[in-house]
Amino acid sequence: MRQHLGVWGKAPAGAGQRPAARRAGVGRRGKAPPGAGQRPAARRAGVGRRGKAPPGAGQSPAARRVGVGRRGKAPPGAGQRPAARRAGVGCRGKAPPGVQRAEPSGVKLLKRMIELLQTVVSAALPVHERLTIRKNRLAPPTGDTVGLPRLCVITGTHGDELEGQYVCYELQRRIHAQPEALTGIVDIYPATNPLGMDTIRRGIPMFDLDMNRIFPGSEDGPAAEYLAARLMADLQGAACAVDIHASNIFLREIPQVRLGENNAGRLLPLARLLNTDFIWVHASATVLESTLAYSLNAAGVPALAVEMGISLRLTPAYGDQLTDGLFALMAHLGIWSGKTPPVRTPTESTDGEVALISAERPGMFIPAVPHGAEVQRGQLIGEIVDPLRGEAVQRVTAPGNGWLFTLREYPACYAGSVLARILLGGAVF
Ligand SMILES: [Zn+2]
Repeated sequence: MRQHLGVWGKAPAGAGQRPAARRAGVGRRGKAPPGAGQRPAARRAGVGRRGKAPPGAGQSPAARRVGVGRRGKAPPGAGQRPAARRAGVGCRGKAPPGVQRAEPSGVKLLKRMIELLQTVVSAALPVHERLTIRKNRLAPPTGDTVGLPRLCVITGTHGDELEGQYVCYELQRRIHAQPEALTGIVDIYPATNPLGMDTIRRGIPMFDLDMNRIFPGSEDGPAAEYLAARLMADLQGAACAVDIHASNIFLREIPQVRLGENNAGRLLPLARLLNTDFIWVHASATVLESTLAYSLNAAGVPALAVEMGISLRLTPAYGDQLTDGLFALMAHLGIWSGKTPPVRTPTESTDGEVALISAERPGMFIPAVPHGAEVQRGQLIGEIVDPLRGEAVQRVTAPGNGWLFTLREYPACYAGSVLARILLGGAVF
């Protein structure tokens, strides 16, 4: 297992570490007492921080050449000296100016913000590995954070949906640039289904389960339900939770908030701040009770489910757009005192105003209009073609004037496959 160390998130907790290091939780930021279990070289190198280690610190020249310490770049353990491997040198990078990270170096940085990587829940896997859900907490250095408003940003529940990863990154990048403006807590959960993310699966691979169908989970239930229950418990008390999804591999979506009409009165004022193009208010019957957002709302935590982009891809323009909205939401909740970008006014609609267009024949769907276009009644949206016989088998046209906010990206379709959704009612921009 030793060769895996040095790549953040890959090393089973404690594997390949000396007993002293294991006891001290070395390599997990925020867990280790100052310097415990570390050799001086490891301390100098900023053990337990994500990203780049200080140039060359604690690493051999070979390690520097191969870029050890940048997640995903270095061959596992390649070029590192044993001490560096044991300590996980380079796991997390240099704190930006003004950020005090709770890590064991004892280095005093400007105390304008505290950052703390935490384990939300960890469950044993069959052979000594662990499934661990982590979060990063950003908070002002008030000493006592009790009573501060808290925003939770959650994503990665569907392991193939990656759009939220960009938002997690960008949100923290902007906070790091202006830490003194942080007046509340931001908890970031990038990967609530880490096994799914690692294996490009939507669900939890070992259970073949859609994790967003098992909330609120159960403390006494099977492992997946236990994880869900612990995650729910961790989110309790938040002023707002934003659960970011990225559609699926088939359909591309305009940034939108989806919420149940039973919660609309409470959630709409928050949803309008998120800078999405669209808020879709579902009828109660269509809202799944086993989703994280539904369960949080039922438990008293205002929760907004965002859908945007498409799975397996990042769309930075959408990520920037939503991040702008998160700052507006943070300002509203008393979590951000800095300037916030202006937010757009979203179109709000109910199920009744959305036209669902499905395939009538199997084949390959070739769109004729771009995603996000305004279309007129009768306008060609695309064709389904039969590659074997070389002919179009269905002309797909708009049932009315409206806005094409969902468009099929994955070409293969069957009778009944969703091709597009149109928000009826003419011009919306
Ligand atoms: Zn999803």
